[in-house]
Amino acid sequence: MKSVEIAVLEGDGIGPDIVQATMRVLEKACAKQGVRTDFSMLPSGLSALESHGSTLPQETLDKLPDYSGWILGPVTHHTYPINDKRFINPSGYLRKNYELFANIRPSRAFPGVKTKFPEVDLVVVRENTEGMYADRNVLDGNGEFRPTEDTVVSVRVVTRKASLRVARQAFELARSRRGKVTAVHKANVLRRGCGLFLECCKEVAKEYPDIELNDFHVDAFAMMLVMYPERFDVIVTTNLFGDVLSDEAAGLVGGLGLAPGLNAGIEHAMGQATHGSAPDIAELHIANPVAEILSGKLLLDWLAAHLSMPELFEAAKDVERGVAETLKNGKGLTPDLGGTAHTDEMTDVILSEMG
Ligand code: NAD
Repeated sequence: MKSVEIAVLEGDGIGPDIVQATMRVLEKACAKQGVRTDFSMLPSGLSALESHGSTLPQETLDKLPDYSGWILGPVTHHTYPINDKRFINPSGYLRKNYELFANIRPSRAFPGVKTKFPEVDLVVVRENTEGMYADRNVLDGNGEFRPTEDTVVSVRVVTRKASLRVARQAFELARSRRGKVTAVHKANVLRRGCGLFLECCKEVAKEYPDIELNDFHVDAFAMMLVMYPERFDVIVTTNLFGDVLSDEAAGLVGGLGLAPGLNAGIEHAMGQATHGSAPDIAELHIANPVAEILSGKLLLDWLAAHLSMPELFEAAKDVERGVAETLKNGKGLTPDLGGTAHTDEMTDVILSEMG
C-alpha cells in the first residue's frame, strides 16, 4: 500500500481539536484512494513548553526536515514573551526558516453558508518570509526597536528575490484558475518597498502573457474587495497587507472558521488555518474544524504534485466534497455557523458526507 508521511504540530487553544479533526478526514480521504497516512505528532506550543522547555523544541526542528508536508494548528503567540528564547512562534519561525514563501489563502462562497456574495472565489497569495513582521525581518533579534520610552521603530524588508518568487507562485496559480492576477501595494507612498514589489510583479507578468495583471493601492483595494469581491481571482501582496486582506475576504464568505491556508515552499509545505487559537472558545470544543480541514486539503494538493501521487489530488477533492455537502445540508454545524455541534460532531458529519 502506498503511504504519505505528514508531520503534525497541534499548536495551542483550539489547535488540538481542529488538528485531530483534520487528521481523521485526511486519513479517510487517502484510505479511499489506497494511500495510508502516517502522521508523526511533534511537540509544539504551550504544551511543548511544559514537556520540552520550548514552544518549538529542538526535537521537532530535527524531525521536520524529514517530511515534505506539515500540518500546524494555531498558536497563542500574543502571550509569548518577546525576550524569552523558550518562546518561539512556530508559525513565523517555520515560514521564514524553511522558506515557505507563499501563504496561499483561498476564500470561496459555499452554497448553504450565508453570504451577500455567493459568487466569490478568490485566493490571496501573501508573501510570507519578510515584510512588516518583526520575527521575520532581521537575522538576529527582533525587527522592532524601542530606542526611547516613547518611540518604536519597525523595520520592513522587501527583497527582489522574495517578491519575484511569490509573484511567480501567484501567476502559476492563476493559470490553473481564471487567469487574472491583482497586485496589491502602496507604491504611491512606500515608493521604494512597494515600488520594488510592484516592479517584480510586472517583470514576472512578462513570463506569463496568457495571464492578465492589474494592480491597486491597498486602501482602494480594501474598498473594492468589500464592494465587488467576485471580480478578483488571484491577489498577490506583501506580508502585512495579505494578512489583513485575507481575513477581510474570509469575512465575506462565512468567517474565519472557513478560511484555510497553505504555506508553500519548494521542499516543504505547511497546511495551517488562517485564524488564530481562539482562546475565547478553546475550552468549549466547539471550534469550526473546516478551515484546518481545508488547509489539509490544500496540503494534499501540494503533496500530490510534489510527490507525483495523483491519488492525493482525488483525496483532496473528496475532502472538499465532504465539507461542501456538510455546509450545503446545514446539519451538524458548529455555533459560528449557526449550529450547536461540537468540533468532533461536525467532523463526523463531514466524514459521513465523504461516503
Ligand atoms: P482568532 O482568529 O483566534 O479569533 C478571532 C475570533 O474568531 C474569535 O472570536 C474566535 O472565537 C473566532 N474563531 C477563530 N477561529 C475559529 C474557529 N475555527 N471556529 C470558530 N470560531 C473561530 O484571533 P485572535 O483572537 O486575534 O487571536 C488569538 C490568538 O491567536 C493570539 O495569540 C494570536 O496571536 C494568535 N494567532 C495565531 C495565528 C496562527 O497561529 N497562525 C493566527 C492569528 C492569530
